Amino acid sequence: MAVLEQQLTSQQAIDLENKYGAHNYHPLPVVLNRGEGVYVWDVEGKKYYDFLSAYSAVNQGHCHPKIVDAMVSQAKTLTLTSRAFYNDILGRYEKFAAEYFNFDKLLPMNTGAEAVETALKICRKWAYEKKGIAENEAEIVVCENNFHGRTTTIISFSNDPVARKNFGPYTDGFIKIEYDNIQALQEVLENNPNVAGFLVEPIQGEAGVFVPSEGYLAKAKALCEKHNVLFIADEVQTGIARTGRLLATCGNCTCEKKDCSGTPEVKPDVLILGKALSGGAYPVSAVLANDDIMNVIGPGNHGSTFGGNPVAAAVAMAALEVVTDESLAENAFQLGELFRSELQKYAETSNVVSIVRGKGLLNAIVINDDEESETAWNICMKLKENGLLAKPTHGNIIRFAPPLVMTREQLLDCVAIITKTLKGFE
Ligand SMILES: *Cc1c(COP(=O)(O)O)cnc(C)c1O
Repeated sequence: MAVLEQQLTSQQAIDLENKYGAHNYHPLPVVLNRGEGVYVWDVEGKKYYDFLSAYSAVNQGHCHPKIVDAMVSQAKTLTLTSRAFYNDILGRYEKFAAEYFNFDKLLPMNTGAEAVETALKICRKWAYEKKGIAENEAEIVVCENNFHGRTTTIISFSNDPVARKNFGPYTDGFIKIEYDNIQALQEVLENNPNVAGFLVEPIQGEAGVFVPSEGYLAKAKALCEKHNVLFIADEVQTGIARTGRLLATCGNCTCEKKDCSGTPEVKPDVLILGKALSGGAYPVSAVLANDDIMNVIGPGNHGSTFGGNPVAAAVAMAALEVVTDESLAENAFQLGELFRSELQKYAETSNVVSIVRGKGLLNAIVINDDEESETAWNICMKLKENGLLAKPTHGNIIRFAPPLVMTREQLLDCVAIITKTLKGFE
């Protein structure tokens, strides 16, 4: 029988991954084979609410027909030319996305980590050619507990021991400061004339959904401007409507005029996108910047065989259209308020949940137990049994990030599942 036609049980699929796959993840033991909107199904046919959305890549919902149609249609026409030749769709996508996010130019890549690497390279080249920093002296400021991906350079400035240990030697040129500490940023900028950029997540997702204090990003941007330092926003997880606005930084992006629900904060000099830029259908990432910055990149300086391929371009355009057509930012904003207020009500009398936090539909609960305890994992196992998939981060934090196409009724159903499950642990 052809390999793809075999019907596997969950246990068989898990055993195969364990035996033949590298053990670089520790998944919840559920084996999915179908998704639609806010739902996924396992191989035994059990239906679940997806409350992770592939780490916020599936904001537009699983297998969104408009995105799938764009992908299939482009896949039947032309899939890859490399950038050795032009194709007739990349330019259209670049114009569409540049206007959508209000930047002059876009540099297309595939994964989030590649886009972060790209932003770091652009920043360094800008430092030497525009800011006038001496060769090899540029520094980029990053935050403690950051998550920006898994390449050797990116893990060089991580402070997660599991992500770093025995992967040295590490890349130089980064200074780490405390997140959400404007004083720390001010000091580092005043004392280091060689700082070229400040790389920041508008909300720290992987760290456990840490929302900075009101005004932090705007103040950080103002400090960067004062010291001629590029403000680089990694919105790979927070972008594309996840936090109740098109972008969590949301400067003068176009959504302001359409369905933006929050107060605009800042416009980054360099914007990094990935994950939901494709609605989870395909690996698509991008770096956006204006000409004075992006024009430091010339032929041969940077590239990617698959970056900006026709399928990626078609998929990303469709995925961004869905965000606007279906007012996903507005929906994430409304449902986020409802979700937090419902869980907050629960937390007030709970011994299990100590904190509820987040923005839009990027939320987390902190379990009243230490990081080494199994409680959060056990809660996620019970949530799975009850028909909802979520995953702990950092041991005692559970992130809740459903697709943004959820309805109010579905969300309340999910709140009922979550609170019922938590009650079993009181
Ligand atoms: C997921 C993520 C990345 C890395 O994206 P990959 O596609 O996994 O390489 C980078 N930054 C942030 C904030 C992310 O959440």
